[in-house]
Amino acid sequence: MSGGGGGGTTSNLRPKFVPKTPPCMNTCPNHVDIRGFITSISLAEKKGKSYDEAYTEAFYRIAETNVIPATIGRVCPHPCETACNRINVDESVSINKLERTVGDFAIEKGLPLKKLTDEKRQEKIAIIGAGPAGLTCAYHLARRGYNVTIFEAFPKAGGMLRYGIPAYRLPRNILDAEIKRIQDLGVEIRCNTAIGREISYDDLKNEYNAVFVGIGAHKGLNLNVSGEEAPNVYTGAEFLHKINSGESIDLGNKVIVIGGGDTAIDAARVAKRLGADTTILYRRTIKEMPAIDEEIEEAQKEGITMEFLAAPIEVLKNGNMAKAIKCIRMELKEADGSGRPRPVPIEGSEFITDATTIISAISQEPDFSGLEQFKHGRDWTKIDFKGETEFAGTYAGGDVIELSTVTVANSHGRKAADAVDHHFRSQTFEPEEKRFPPIISHEKMRLDFYEKLPRIPIKSLPVDERFGDLEKEVNSTYSHEEALAESKRCMSCGMCFNCEKCWMYCQVNAVVKTADLDHPFAFKLELCDGCKKCAEECPCGYIEMY
Ligand SMILES: Cc1cc2nc3c(=O)[nH]c(=O)nc-3n(C[C@H](O)[C@H](O)[C@H](O)COP(=O)(O)OP(=O)(O)OC[C@H]3O[C@@H](n4cnc5c(N)ncnc54)[C@H](O)[C@@H]3O)c2cc1C
Ligand code: SF4
Ligand code: SF4
Repeated sequence: MSGGGGGGTTSNLRPKFVPKTPPCMNTCPNHVDIRGFITSISLAEKKGKSYDEAYTEAFYRIAETNVIPATIGRVCPHPCETACNRINVDESVSINKLERTVGDFAIEKGLPLKKLTDEKRQEKIAIIGAGPAGLTCAYHLARRGYNVTIFEAFPKAGGMLRYGIPAYRLPRNILDAEIKRIQDLGVEIRCNTAIGREISYDDLKNEYNAVFVGIGAHKGLNLNVSGEEAPNVYTGAEFLHKINSGESIDLGNKVIVIGGGDTAIDAARVAKRLGADTTILYRRTIKEMPAIDEEIEEAQKEGITMEFLAAPIEVLKNGNMAKAIKCIRMELKEADGSGRPRPVPIEGSEFITDATTIISAISQEPDFSGLEQFKHGRDWTKIDFKGETEFAGTYAGGDVIELSTVTVANSHGRKAADAVDHHFRSQTFEPEEKRFPPIISHEKMRLDFYEKLPRIPIKSLPVDERFGDLEKEVNSTYSHEEALAESKRCMSCGMCFNCEKCWMYCQVNAVVKTADLDHPFAFKLELCDGCKKCAEECPCGYIEMY
């Protein structure tokens, strides 16, 4: 058939609104409803919502998955942004900074977390470790009505968020506020209580109906070179733990940090703030450094020297104190098991660098003392698709499975909570990804609809104002105007954002406006002649013809 209202080809096909999964949400390990929370802000005016209403809605959308958005909004390496469809127009949406803005709003307004039900479950759940994995698991169980107690070995909750990540990246008032909100929901946190030492795992199992193991990986790895037992040689985890616990350390004026991950960068930036001339020694090149790119850039801006393709072979001492490090130059050969090029020593290339303090930040591992049953030889704790260990009723997640990120720890904690809940309700658990609608690719969208708009940068402290104080936060939160402008860059991939294109292009009035602000259009299929114009013009790929 041809002709018809749109002037194009008519057909027997009829349009349907089909929500899709945006790639940002699919890629976020914790599957935060990114499109949902950003459009809560960007569409607020169209929906007649105030600033407060929009941010409150955005917060509760995030809190469906991520209970610590102000924290995550400061530290997440944001893989979601790498997948953002907007990259095909100009640059990705600044998702992480928007998440932080909403998180800060929630703290400022004292927004409480909400329970999903008034039901009070009889089952008691024990959580070992108050890091992001344990805290998240606790929240998702408490909101479903369970009795939750977290046992934490350290004096305060937060795990690596408190004892690893420095305060200039994550201010402690922000972390404290987000933890308190979880406690206010009814979660009890018992600090200074190490499971496997103060209380045995068996006793815990007997008293509680389910257990979640989220003990992280706090033991710094040694270099395995002679001389490293000197008291001025620290592991990165040990050094940051001491500093973040308020201890002062006399570093001297020349610090060498070994490693290329987040711990190495954080240790180096802390040492620099404490006044030491600081060098990072890494055995590969900057390209292979596993640390977050922005952190590497900031470290360089702060004047931290980076010596690549070099590895330590001996700590040289004066008496019992380290005074220098002997290194060897490396060259890169074909990839190893990690997929990165393999560093190989170059014979005869040894050199010596003086040091007043040496920090070995090469990696961490879990401390399984008293919990040895969760260690598998050289491997760490194993879990199945539900997050359950081989011990029925005991779940695990976070760094104790594999060193990863805060959002991965959150996702493990959330999944385990979901699995525990399904278990006690005798329901079959299936991974949430199975329920996601198809992912919308930029190729299925009308990218020409979207105007090029520069990404709104965040403000950061000038470098010369950063030193001498470990608490001074480097990056700032978007203002409301900045957040609003950035939110409008989101293309609402796969979901209506009320652009009216379908309604404007339909010449037979088969698209009508509704009073429902969340679903502003409907089809009058009896008027439709199948010209497909609505589907062709919809910028976000929400309409399909069937
Ligand atoms: C220096 C550093 C910087 C980092 N920077 C980033 C970053 O910028 N972005 C990012 O996403 N990730 C970062 N990470 C990684 C991130 O911090 C971890 O992936 C995350 O904290 C893991 O969470 P978790 O809950 O599994 O473990 P943790 O945060 O390690 O928490 C585990 C908790 O369990 C407690 N515990 C241990 N044993 C016991 C026991 N027997 N009984 C009771 N409690 C116990 C510990 O005291 C701790 O509080 C960084 C890590 C480090 C070390
Ligand atoms: S948690 Fe990380 S990956 Fe997920 S939306 Fe936030 S910034 Fe993106
Ligand atoms: S444009 Fe918006 S919805 Fe689309 S991928 Fe990026 S953040 Fe997600």
